[in-house]
Amino acid sequence: MIIDASQRAILRSLWFNGQLSRSELHDLTGMTPNAVGNEISQLQRLGLVKELDPKPSTGGRPQIPLILDPSSRRILGISIEPGQVEIAELGLHGDVTVAPISKSVEQESRLLSAATRLARTYCVRRTLMAAASVTGLIDHATGSILLSSSAPHQRHLNTSVLLQGLDDVPLIIGNDLHAAAGRWAVTHRSQLQEDTLLIAFDDGRMGAVMVINGRPNHGCIMGANELGHTRFPVNTPLCYCGQSGCMERIFSSAFLGPAITAEEFSRRVETADVQDGKLAEMLNLLIMACSNAVNFVRPSRLVLASRFMAGEAFAHRLMGGIRAMLLPHLSERVTMDAWNIKVAGSAETAAWLGLATLLFDSWEAYPPPSATAQHPPVI
Ligand SMILES: [Zn+2]
Repeated sequence: MIIDASQRAILRSLWFNGQLSRSELHDLTGMTPNAVGNEISQLQRLGLVKELDPKPSTGGRPQIPLILDPSSRRILGISIEPGQVEIAELGLHGDVTVAPISKSVEQESRLLSAATRLARTYCVRRTLMAAASVTGLIDHATGSILLSSSAPHQRHLNTSVLLQGLDDVPLIIGNDLHAAAGRWAVTHRSQLQEDTLLIAFDDGRMGAVMVINGRPNHGCIMGANELGHTRFPVNTPLCYCGQSGCMERIFSSAFLGPAITAEEFSRRVETADVQDGKLAEMLNLLIMACSNAVNFVRPSRLVLASRFMAGEAFAHRLMGGIRAMLLPHLSERVTMDAWNIKVAGSAETAAWLGLATLLFDSWEAYPPPSATAQHPPVI
């Protein structure tokens, strides 16, 4: 299955606008009526687009509304994270058609084969594509995982077992942060024209991604992307990157104490109690890392993505703390959003990465398309 730029433009128009007729698609995309008709026929054959009943005629030819086909094709999401693999399935309207199913995997050398076995069970004829998210750095040219907290003792992990296991279904592999960025991009149409820094975090996990013109920026390590490995002079357990004091080791249960459970960590984070000394230290360092990243990257918008953003006290403290530490002109200009979303280990978010690659050109391409080329992200 190869979706070209014209077909992507039609899919994107339908995603962001809902029902459209062929003539409305012609107006929106600038493609000729003939070209629109041909591309629609192709997309119907692939089960991606479907016709609804014609609207009552107002004198001319009846207009046939088109929509993304909600029932024929599915996107399989696969998440690979430390100690666990998970799958979930999405329809083309972003609806969850198979709720997340996860499996613990104790040995890191078995993560990929366990993910393959789980994915194969749900990879069926209706599967349009599979999208896998994994922590760490991925070589997009070869699809290999260069460095990952999921498999800290292995380098250049070959993902061909996953690809072969899914037979002929196209597979996208992306960093879990890029998966979150994909989910954000396809669900925040009005904000896509702004350059955005998205920071995501969970217990023991942190990263950031810049979204520019609706696409993730792959190049920059400083300031974003590797924010989880920004280091502070504090004692933490050793990070899988080989250092201590990394931000993702600071924002973790282990930082609050050796016997702190994940549940207790969540409860303490949500209360954001200023009297809780160790928690206050952790949050102050989190605020410092986030505000440093914003001061460095200077985005128009900062999106803080985490399930913890649902906690009002925590979100208020984090956002207020960050704004207070921004350079004055940035403090006035940067828009800040709390996005309550599960990023770590979410196969649903991985499936949204698949949807993003279906709707946006060259989502995971590096280097990005020529800066002079016209690639309007939203139609
Ligand atoms: Zn590290």
